Amino acid sequence: MSAGLASAGAVIVGAGHGGSQAAVSLRQDGYSGPITLIGDEPGYPYHRPPLSKAFMKAGDDKLQPLRGEAMYLNHGIDYRPGTTVRALDLTGRRCILDTGELPFGDLILATGARPRALAIDGCEREGIFTLRTAADAQRIKRRMAASHHAVIIGGGFIGLEIAATMAVLGKRVTVLEIGERLLARAISPVVSDHVLARLAASGVDVRLGAQVSAFEGKTSVQAVAALSGERFLADVVVVGIGAAPAVALAAEAGIRVDGGIVVDECLRTSADRVFAIGDCARFPHWPSQSLIRLESVQNATDQARHVAQVILGATTPYTAVPWFWSDIADMKLQMVGLPIGADRHLVTGQPSENAFSVYHFHGDDLVAIDTVNRPADHMLGRKMLASGYRPTEHDILSGRLSDAFRQWSAASPAGGAIRSA
Ligand code: NAP
Repeated sequence: MSAGLASAGAVIVGAGHGGSQAAVSLRQDGYSGPITLIGDEPGYPYHRPPLSKAFMKAGDDKLQPLRGEAMYLNHGIDYRPGTTVRALDLTGRRCILDTGELPFGDLILATGARPRALAIDGCEREGIFTLRTAADAQRIKRRMAASHHAVIIGGGFIGLEIAATMAVLGKRVTVLEIGERLLARAISPVVSDHVLARLAASGVDVRLGAQVSAFEGKTSVQAVAALSGERFLADVVVVGIGAAPAVALAAEAGIRVDGGIVVDECLRTSADRVFAIGDCARFPHWPSQSLIRLESVQNATDQARHVAQVILGATTPYTAVPWFWSDIADMKLQMVGLPIGADRHLVTGQPSENAFSVYHFHGDDLVAIDTVNRPADHMLGRKMLASGYRPTEHDILSGRLSDAFRQWSAASPAGGAIRSA
């Protein structure tokens, strides 16, 4: 890093998990210039995962800050909440804010993703929500308190976490998922079937292949109509049909965008010293040799740590193994790796005991593991996939996978070292 660029400073656009981590990592790793973190929400950066779970159940609206205020102050991070970046001037190397201008030497785009809207008849009725921010969660919570019938559109992470939460709070809950199984983008069919069965047992009415056609009601939503002709009573609706990467700033500045802000293996965009991380970034996934975009806390924070190193001069590619989790009813789902190209799987444990693991293979390579209430399998999976260990089917089915991995680690030249943070 040249002294000139450090003195112009680093600006981070977006104060979610990725942006906040990038600011702190830059300073902790030795960045000497000014660091400015810009967020369009009020308050300090907070944990988003509880919004669809604990936050909905809590008697107050307290958020869990990602770090205390002192962390930003002590690290000399100029945090600007409630601030919008209107445009990027790449030639003049400045951000155009709603409050003025800000020069940058290095720019990190951590702009995240925005919920997709369902633009159908009646979508402007009161009582229909998407969930991304604390303000969204507060609005849902207020409405839910006075509601009896909840319809959740989309059987993904948001939909199922909210559905399970609302069921616990005594609401009658229907989930309308357009696809033929739940969480199809994130978990294997065997886990989808299990989640559906558990949710149904906890009183949630899950409909697959359900296409929503209209929201009914005068000013407030009263029912959701499906193409099948069925109507579902609803005094609160949450739409969780996926998120789109927030790429407008980058695209308008002429930065390459294609299903996300395209970055190279070091998270560099097509513009000089401009980087993108987290939900908005489409990056090379080395095992599958494809460009991917991931929406997860792990991806945002690991990319944030990595980009700080790159800004400080590292040239190592980003190769962290992706992992995800979700708490739905009495299930802790944990996924590690990506089952891209997977051609077979093995199941260990017992779905009937609500505790099992699914190991996905592509040829001889273990590429991903989904676990339900088996955190030890998940943790071992993270270590195995990060170290390059290739367990055989026998290792997995013998129940001695942990021992086999330990022996391999002890014998391997790198000692089972993890390839990347
Ligand atoms: P998601 O996980 O992609 O799930 C969206 C689901 O809605 C998919 O199953 C999708 O089916 C379905 N769908 C799409 N269009 C539909 C329609 N018109 N009617 C009914 N269903 C429809 O997205 P999400 O649940 O909305 O989550 C949004 C964001 O929040 C993501 O960034 C997610 O990672 C994040 N989040 C993560 C967690 C976690 O990791 N635990 C928890 C909460 C939120 P198809 O796949 O067939 O399109």
